[in-house]
Amino acid sequence: MSICNLPVLAVSVYFLEDSHMSASTRPVTTAALSAFAKASADALHALFEQRITLLDGAMGTMIQQHPLSEADFRGERFKGHPHDLKGNNDLLSLTRPDIIEGIHSQYFAAGADIVETNTFNSTSISQADYQAEFLVPELNAAAVAAARRAAQKAEAATPGRRCFVAGAIGPLNRTLSMSPDVNRPDYRAVTWDQVVAAYTEQARALIQGGVDALLVETIFDTLNSKAAVFAIDTLFDELGFRLPVMISVTITDASGRTLSGQTIGAFYNSIRHANPFSVGINCALGGRQMRPYIEELARLAECYVTCYPNAGLPNAFGGYDESPADMAGVLGEFAAAGFVNMVGGCCGSTPAHIAAIAAAVRGKTPRQPVAHTPEMRLSGLEPLTVA
Ligand SMILES: [Zn+2]
Repeated sequence: MSICNLPVLAVSVYFLEDSHMSASTRPVTTAALSAFAKASADALHALFEQRITLLDGAMGTMIQQHPLSEADFRGERFKGHPHDLKGNNDLLSLTRPDIIEGIHSQYFAAGADIVETNTFNSTSISQADYQAEFLVPELNAAAVAAARRAAQKAEAATPGRRCFVAGAIGPLNRTLSMSPDVNRPDYRAVTWDQVVAAYTEQARALIQGGVDALLVETIFDTLNSKAAVFAIDTLFDELGFRLPVMISVTITDASGRTLSGQTIGAFYNSIRHANPFSVGINCALGGRQMRPYIEELARLAECYVTCYPNAGLPNAFGGYDESPADMAGVLGEFAAAGFVNMVGGCCGSTPAHIAAIAAAVRGKTPRQPVAHTPEMRLSGLEPLTVA
């Protein structure tokens, strides 16, 4: 899934949107949610043990295929909203759920096992750009419902098939590690507590909506992702059950570092305590440029490894040029090399890309997680492991 619009410079961190939705079999009581979460976790583990799993492709790329105006984004309900709403793709879960559900259905038809909810920017911090913070619980619930409807239809069309919904949690347009003001390097536009509160509100709505897993993705600032993980873990403690948590970082330059400066090994050490279901790399670089970093992660990770790159590096017009065959070639090679447990597409990818990738990894053996070894693993910008 996704539409990431990664920042080029740390001083101008802005994300436009994202995607995903879900759920019509909406468990309502905590006991029902708990049973649902256990069943989802068991089914996901079984799937990942059995074969390489398919994630969906970009949501934003697909939304852009619909010529939507400001009026389309507003619908009847938000006609009088005091701020422009065009570009708030997450709002379409409320105003054009038909489009969002249709995109999910196309990805399931292409072979995706898991779709991501249209919630990349469905936090109070990101929605503040549109003065739409008050909609956060509803945006997440509607997004889960749309994805879940598509999942149910795909399951009904192929008896025995299981289709999953992952709640997408994006990186925010405000960051804890970097100052947006070049003259005040100590300044932060947001606090840890604010980020935790925003992620808690989103994660609660996704879980209550009925997602099978949470996917913290397109991470460019490790501290933001640690706040997300802290929020999710605290919420799990409160609820008394857990869901699989998938974590995916983005590497923004050819030196192999995140925007906040970490190498992939340092990033892994930073989030390993969360005991994630999977860790991976998505977005910014195309698959070819990701290869050394996915290889390193595959060597390190004690959980499943995921990879869903953009359809190549952005071209001069902000578009993406890799064909379905190009992406399938790269990800098929990663699968053959034993690097991955789940593959899919990020910005610029389409159902045609996912179908080609599905064919390329079919029959290939999923990677085996590395055995846990008790070592002290620290991280700054580089990892430090003391055996
Ligand atoms: Zn992306």
